[in-house]
Parts: sequence; C-alpha cells; structure tokens
Amino acid sequence: PIILAIESSCDDTGAAVLAGGELLSNVVATQKVHEQYGGVVPELASRAHQQHLLPVVTAALREAGITKDDLDAVAVTQGPGLLGSLLVGGMFAKTLALALDKPLLAVNHMRAHILAHFLRDPKPTFPFLCLTVSGGHTQLVRVHSALQMEILGQTIDDAAGEAFDKTAKLLGLPYPGGPHLDRLARQGDPTRFAFPVGAMPGYDFSFSGLKTAVLYFLKKETAKNPEFIAENLADLCAGIQHTIVATLLKQLRRAAADTGLTQVALAGGVAANSGLRTALQQEAAVQGWEVFIPEFAFCTDNAAMVAMTAHFQFEAGDVATQLVSPDPRLKLS
Ligand code: ATP
Ligand code: FE
Repeated sequence: PIILAIESSCDDTGAAVLAGGELLSNVVATQKVHEQYGGVVPELASRAHQQHLLPVVTAALREAGITKDDLDAVAVTQGPGLLGSLLVGGMFAKTLALALDKPLLAVNHMRAHILAHFLRDPKPTFPFLCLTVSGGHTQLVRVHSALQMEILGQTIDDAAGEAFDKTAKLLGLPYPGGPHLDRLARQGDPTRFAFPVGAMPGYDFSFSGLKTAVLYFLKKETAKNPEFIAENLADLCAGIQHTIVATLLKQLRRAAADTGLTQVALAGGVAANSGLRTALQQEAAVQGWEVFIPEFAFCTDNAAMVAMTAHFQFEAGDVATQLVSPDPRLKLS
C-alpha cells in the first residue's frame, strides 16, 4: 500500500509517504516559536501546525513523486500528545481520507516511536525489548509483535528527556537542554558530583528526585560561590548525565535478565544521547545483547514512523472510521 502519514502530536509537523514498506519521503517542520518560552506552548503549537500542515504534506507528496490520487490510505497520530495539536492533524487526515474515499488509519505515537526500527536495516526481530526515552515518556516495552506490545516499566514522574531538560534549565542552558547538556558532559568528569539514581522496585523509573537534588545542591553551592555553576559546568553536566544513564541501564539490565530477551532497542529523542549510546554498547558487549538504535531523524518526532506503524495496521486490517477522535492519553497496550 501507498500510505501518507501525518504527525502532529507535539511541536513538530510531519508528513511521510511509505510505499510497500519503503520510505519515499519524510518531511518535518520544527516549530521555533517555543524556544523563547523555555517549553512548548500548546496554543501556539496548534496554530503552527495549521500553518505548516499543507506545505509539509504537499512537499512529502512531491518528494515521493506521487499525487494524492495514488494513495491507498491516510494515517494520522491519534495520541498520546497535546489535544489541540492532535486535533489539527486529525481533522486534516480525516478530511483528506473522506475526500479521497480512502481508509483512515489511527496510529499510537508511542508504538510509532518503537516501530521506527522497521524503516531501515538492521531491523530487530520479534520479540525484542525496547527502551523508549523521549521528551514525554520513559517506557520499557516488551515488543511481542508490531501490533502487540506490553509495558514492563515506565516513569512514575518525569520522563528521561524532561530530566535532561529540567536539570539543564537549572544550569542556565537554553531549551531544550538535553543536547546542550550532552555536549558539555563530554568534557566533564562524571565522578565529581554524585546524584541519586532513580530506579524503582520492578522496572519503573523516577527522575524527580534527581531534579530536586540538583536544585538544592546548586542553591547551596551558589550561596557560597556565585560562580559555582560556571566554574563546574562540564562536571555538573557529566554527573547528571551519568545518573540518568545509570538509572536507565539499571532497569534495562533487570528487564533483559528477567525476560531473557537479548535484542535491545532504543527509541525516542534521548536515544541521541552520547552517554546513553556508549553505556548501552558497553553493556551489550558484557551481556551479549544485540543493540538497535534508529538514525536520529527517526528518533525524534517524525511521520515516517507513523507511516510504518500504519503499514502494519493496514496489513492487519486495523482501519479507523470517521468517528475516531484524538486521545491525549492514549495507552500503549
Ligand atoms: P513524546 O513522544 O514522549 O511525546 P517527544 O517526541 O516530543 O516526546 P522526542 O522528540 O522524542 O520527544 O525527544 C525530545 C527530547 O530528547 C527532549 O527532551 C530533548 O532534550 C531530548 N534530547 C535530544 N537529544 C538529546 C541528547 N543528545 N541528550 C539528551 N537528551 C536529548
Ligand atoms: Fe514523540
């Protein structure tokens, strides 16, 4: 099938065309407007999606070398995400599917992050373990098949990406702080500052303790020395990154041991983190895991992963109707 997919769950407007599982185009318009506010402003995101959608879809069709009449289905992210953002993409996709008289496919955004692994070789084989670390989620998932996934553990408070962004903000880094913290951490000593590892019993994660520990530590030290952050920035970044990575790996190791799964996949924007990648490769060498990390463009929000998920759903006959509505809290399983 030739599928046009639309992604608008947060602050990236994406459109992609997938033909028989082969990616023909993948276009993303990233919204810059939120930077000045230090976080995504939902109302501004919805408006930017309205402006970006038509140009992005048009570009995706053009780059794929097809017209809308060639499409076999239209897919869209149903959730989870921001309600207003999901509504804009949802209405666009519904209208297009109705006008073309083609099936509509409603896609779960977190499943899509995982199925991004099937866009390019090497692909994992089912079942495998996936650690999804994004701006809004941290999930350890047993992926039985493209359609059946089971959450083993997840964060009980902040997501890993949020932990990076919020601690980076405390250090005065620009939003989103994750990539900045990563860059600075490379020059720092991870052993100088120790923070609490937020691994819970079972496979759950907690990152709010880290944020609080960093906040109080910085308050205490800057009261003594106003230049404390500037003088120790790289070491602070390295210490924080080390703690987040250690937390993620602790639960991953436990889940892999208990499930006996040896294929370990990473998904979501935090998969770009150099500390996490290195630690995962090292752990894999020790444990004998096979590691899968998608290219960066498929880790952050994109419509290609939505198209891939829709492809599996289309093959399985999992088609939506015009009655489908966005679900900001849509569950993975
Ligand atoms: P969700 O899918 O949960 O709604 P999202 O799709 O908006 O969230 P992503 O785009 O997958 O989130 O990831 C964005 C997050 O990844 C941000 O928190 C950002 O700081 C973080 N991030 C990106 N690159 C890095 C990096 N190199 N190191 C650490 N964090 C990073
Ligand atoms: Fe996402």
